[in-house]
Amino acid sequence: MITKQQVEAFGSIETPFYFYDMDLLRQTLDTYKAQIDKYGYNAHYALKANANDRILDTIRSYGLGADCVSGNEVKLAVRSGFDPQKVVFAGVGKSDKEIKAALRAGIFSFNCESVPEIKIINDLAAGMGKKARISIRVNPDIDAHTHKYISTGLKENKFGISPWAFQEVARLLSCCKNIEFLGLHFHVGSQITELPVFALLCRRIEELQKWFIEHEIPIRNLNLGGGLGINYQDPNGDPVAHFEDYFNIIHKHLVVRPGQNVHFEPGRALVGQCGHLISRVLYVKVGREKKFAILDAGMNDLIRPALYQAYHDIENLTSTGRKLRYDVVGPVCESSDCWGTRRMISACKRGDLFAIHSAGAYGQVMAMKYNQRDLAKAVYSDDLK
Ligand SMILES: *Cc1c(COP(=O)(O)O)cnc(C)c1O
Repeated sequence: MITKQQVEAFGSIETPFYFYDMDLLRQTLDTYKAQIDKYGYNAHYALKANANDRILDTIRSYGLGADCVSGNEVKLAVRSGFDPQKVVFAGVGKSDKEIKAALRAGIFSFNCESVPEIKIINDLAAGMGKKARISIRVNPDIDAHTHKYISTGLKENKFGISPWAFQEVARLLSCCKNIEFLGLHFHVGSQITELPVFALLCRRIEELQKWFIEHEIPIRNLNLGGGLGINYQDPNGDPVAHFEDYFNIIHKHLVVRPGQNVHFEPGRALVGQCGHLISRVLYVKVGREKKFAILDAGMNDLIRPALYQAYHDIENLTSTGRKLRYDVVGPVCESSDCWGTRRMISACKRGDLFAIHSAGAYGQVMAMKYNQRDLAKAVYSDDLK
């Protein structure tokens, strides 16, 4: 919830900008940390959701590791003070340069997404006189019931290794001398709000790890990835992701054998709700059939609606008056630059401040300069006090 005092402080800041409620971030992390400590689980924050220095510092201070999907993310994580021993590296297309950099940094695990990748990591590690710790990212063929662009665990998706290739994986593991095998990794999609999906994932993991155990390949780690969703419909009423329910389901359904460690890679659920895109109304355009509220924030600042038809709650921070129906749009020359159609919002005028909520994850980190627009800056609640 953005406070009256914060809205007053916004008056002197150039819009659009990202506002981060650091109290909410800490409250979210407190809740998350209590849950993983309760079960003895390990967590690696998915840097790609938001890589702002202040956000990373806060998350690192809770003892989390980092989940990276590029060589530069690995470098950033290490530079930001994350323990390399807690850095994991996924991605279907790791380049030789990225693999070498990660080997040099001494990361905890490569999450390998194809059979040829295992071979290349082994060869590169051999060339550097090192041993690479790897996990196999398995494609479990599970429908996460999320938007098709953020679903990753179906057999038609490009991610992970399918069970029919396990024989080949086992052969490689036995002959690759510069590989140390840690276990299995899964990540079936993002913005998953139907918790039974995770119960299904746990049951699939048990089926899949049995294959390895039968072939006498020990599984030390199970990494369940991220994907827990947040409430985009009601961010003010439901600001913290439902970690307790999530871990309850996992704890109940995941078979953990003695000596095994369980890992997670939360992204959106940790940072999604603490970020808001703050914008001003430039014009109210009244047409025959509808009214447009035209904002100074556009799809270049936050691309989720244009990219995945994502819903973001929109609030008029300046007025709490009678609600009217608006199509809320941005200034960019694309019809997909639209924040929402037929939204009920307190009657607005030029200069009113709007908040586009739940913009902390996959928001600022995806911003671009399309139309030669300036990049929106970050403002942190701790600095307004
Ligand atoms: C993006 C990603 C995550 C984080 O996903 P969220 O839905 O933001 O929790 C975790 N693991 C991997 C491998 C990813 O690519």
